[in-house]
Amino acid sequence: MSNVQQLYQLQQLDSKIDATNRRLKEIAANLVETEVYKIAKSARDAAESALRACRANTTDIDLDVKSLQQKIAKNEDRLYGGKLTNPKEAASLQEEIASTKRWLAKREEDLLEAMIAQEEAETTFAARQSDFATAEQQWQTEQAALFAEKKALEATLTALTADRKSLIARMDAADVAHYRKLRAKKGGVAVTGVADGNCLSCGVMLTHRIIQQAEDDSTLCYCESCGRILFIL
Ligand SMILES: [Zn+2]
Repeated sequence: MSNVQQLYQLQQLDSKIDATNRRLKEIAANLVETEVYKIAKSARDAAESALRACRANTTDIDLDVKSLQQKIAKNEDRLYGGKLTNPKEAASLQEEIASTKRWLAKREEDLLEAMIAQEEAETTFAARQSDFATAEQQWQTEQAALFAEKKALEATLTALTADRKSLIARMDAADVAHYRKLRAKKGGVAVTGVADGNCLSCGVMLTHRIIQQAEDDSTLCYCESCGRILFIL
């Protein structure tokens, strides 16, 4: 195998390695929660905390209602227990019972409203929960595909790197050093193919003289336009 052929092969391997690394980088950037997933999650969380607040409110009012009922029962026991002798005290107790009952009626209305609000919050939460489950499943499917692609690319990268290593071991060290420098200057492409008389990197039509030089693979020949090493395909 000529030097040019080896350099072209090395270029092919490096280009594939570059492309694989670029895709791996893209995958790494995508292995995160998607917008759809994040939106569904925060809607679910918001519905959940709204429901929690509703439940707490219902519990509070319910406790209040129970305590008012107990208070009324206790005062009625006193009033009708026959132990009260002072009519003034009895009248005041009666007034207190009546006032507590008015407040109880108000709190029972509040409780009904709270229970209706809680029921609505339960329905909303169930819907958001279900939306989130769908989004989560979708996200997990997407992630699974990305993970599988990542694994395959990593295996490809390992194989390419091994091929590259064994190719370089067979190559002239000075050629490799020259290639490296040129590749760094030429955006990752040091060796370019030539097809139908055109440089495949910059697209320029090469002169007959240059093509003849490139066909002789004992020396390196460069594209006059982009300065890359030419390899006749
Ligand atoms: Zn060129």
